[in-house]
Amino acid sequence: MFFKIQILYKLLSLKIHKKWYKNRLNKLQEKRWIRLNNTLLKSPFYRDKAKKNTPLNEYPIINKAHFMADFDIINTKRVSLKKALEVAIKAEESRDFSPLINGITVGLSTGTSGNRGVFLATEEERAQWVACVLDRVIGFSLKKRRVAFFLRANSNLYDSVTSKSLQFEFFDILKNMETHTGRLNKLQPTILVAQPSVLLELASYVEKRELSISPTKIISVAEVLYQEDATFLKRIFKQTIHQVYQCTEGLLASTCAHGTLHFNEDFLIIEKKYLDKEKKRFHPIITDLLRTTQPIIRYELNDIIHEKSNCPCGSHFTAIDKIEGRSDDVLRFKSITGKDVKVYPDFLRRTIILADPSINDYTLVQRDLDTLELYVGNNNAYELAAKAVKSYLESRGVKDIIIEKALVRNHVKGNKLRRIQNDWKIN
Ligand SMILES: [Zn+2]
Repeated sequence: MFFKIQILYKLLSLKIHKKWYKNRLNKLQEKRWIRLNNTLLKSPFYRDKAKKNTPLNEYPIINKAHFMADFDIINTKRVSLKKALEVAIKAEESRDFSPLINGITVGLSTGTSGNRGVFLATEEERAQWVACVLDRVIGFSLKKRRVAFFLRANSNLYDSVTSKSLQFEFFDILKNMETHTGRLNKLQPTILVAQPSVLLELASYVEKRELSISPTKIISVAEVLYQEDATFLKRIFKQTIHQVYQCTEGLLASTCAHGTLHFNEDFLIIEKKYLDKEKKRFHPIITDLLRTTQPIIRYELNDIIHEKSNCPCGSHFTAIDKIEGRSDDVLRFKSITGKDVKVYPDFLRRTIILADPSINDYTLVQRDLDTLELYVGNNNAYELAAKAVKSYLESRGVKDIIIEKALVRNHVKGNKLRRIQNDWKIN
């Protein structure tokens, strides 16, 4: 019960602060940074800087590898990585997600690149996260709602959201989709939460008239929602597809009523590391002003973000036009003059879908310096897509690329769908 009261308290606090500081975002960030500074005194890694009240921009920028390497001295509770991993792996194996170290929950993130992350959260931080999900994602309401949630596995973090007015039903994405459609038809969820690849599969059942549901809100999570997929899903489900941008590092952004993702800048400071001269793409460097057990200070993500200049909702929070993918998925070639050529995923995405209006399902993988593997769902349009990719690369000075035809989509069920992927990895 105490946990639910904590959630309610955090929810109110989020709402009041957001409203009160609506036009003075800097003030709110400043106030929260000063408070965080006191917590940083407990982190051996940050203590010296915190003692001197060092401004944020003089703190080191860290990435996931640094973050894990210095895990033991970054966290403020003296938890060692060894111990945390031990507890987290045991929990995964026993499917019992309640183990705690001195009241701190340990979670394991499933990084696709093999480098698993560990995260720590106190009960207060878990309440904060749940409150944020209620406020920014699900929406707070006293009406009874049924949420269909597609996950890899059930997690005790979500159980805590269940209450009289909110019923959570979990669907294991590794199980056969046909068993799910029957359950969904019966459940008639008011809210549907799933990754885009699952939503696309569900949409195909709606098209075949084997699935008939009419949720009032659909939320895409965990993977990049490509524009053409969003358009397709919007047409099938007849509504805006909402998104959540979240990772181990917390709930970073969620969509407004217009379907635009906005960073939660009431408790995050977002710095932008631009990746191109035009300043269109950036890596976000995040500082979470509310995380205290495992401080997130100037943590650079390798996601490629495009900024949106304005959103009709009027929010002061930075709007995201799209998340292009990750920096490891930038394709790399050599031009005929021997220069390195970097091709961002978005250029190839556009080239492929514009090659023929019938193309909406495709994957492109770089296997080697000069070998690409292309899959196009509509076989009749394959040649057009392959030709378009070739001529785009030629326009960038890259010649003699071999394009191999793939007969199946580059995607393993349960994994993230990445339509453009660099599997060669010389990054
Ligand atoms: Zn907006």
